[in-house]
Amino acid sequence: MSSNPTPSAESEALIQAESLCKYYGPFAAVNDVSFSVPRQQVCAFLGPNGAGKSTTMKMLTGFLSPTKGSVRIAGKSMQTERIEASTHIGYLPENGPLYDEMTPKGALKYLARARGLTRKQRKDRMGFVAEKCNLEEVWNKPISKLSRGFRQRVGMAQAILHDPDVLILDEPTSGLDPNQLVGIRELILELGKSKTVLLSTHVLQEVETLCSRVVLIDQGQIVFDGSIGDMGQREAMANRFHELTGFQTA
Ligand code: ADP
Repeated sequence: MSSNPTPSAESEALIQAESLCKYYGPFAAVNDVSFSVPRQQVCAFLGPNGAGKSTTMKMLTGFLSPTKGSVRIAGKSMQTERIEASTHIGYLPENGPLYDEMTPKGALKYLARARGLTRKQRKDRMGFVAEKCNLEEVWNKPISKLSRGFRQRVGMAQAILHDPDVLILDEPTSGLDPNQLVGIRELILELGKSKTVLLSTHVLQEVETLCSRVVLIDQGQIVFDGSIGDMGQREAMANRFHELTGFQTA
């Protein structure tokens, strides 16, 4: 558990991407991406399909090695201090939770052990995430049999289980019905009060409700980085959002 945050001077920015590049053969999926997210900011990471969002998020979380560039999480290098950096991160991958054949209870117990939580911490944190993510009714059902909404909630539970101070959420609300959306958004809003969050989404309304900052990526490069206010008035912002992401804002 990340109960001892790194001293403030070096962890001013909890997420730091420095000149990140990822090549697949000659193709640059991510090309010289640099940005940082300070403590307790909820930052939207937007862009059209294929822009490089997931690839960047995988590099930030250590699931993919950059071809060039580096990542620091809470001041720890993902390249040379991977274990220390990873303890600060909770990650919701784009395809939802791992361990499909397990139940939420089994998967979370397994992860809690792998994260090195003590028996008491395991009990406390599993109870906490079960309640926060409303998992009680599916606690003992195989994850593979759950609806998209419940699977996302299991993914969120896995991400916040060890109480990380940084959350990287890859499309946490995609494919959810309106009721499920409300629950996950409320959870992110609550988590955003104490955590540093980077989240990708297609929905402008979500950006407006949850995020104070927007980083836009297109063809592997950052094309906008600023506050929601910097995007202009509501209508102008909607147009700009559409222009930059290709997504409708209704
Ligand atoms: P986004 O998350 O913004 O939709 P991705 O990061 O998934 O975009 O993909 C960025 C680009 O990299 C896309 O053109 C995608 O086809 C390509 N890409 C992603 N993963 C691979 C891979 N393993 N091999 C080759 N190309 C890939």
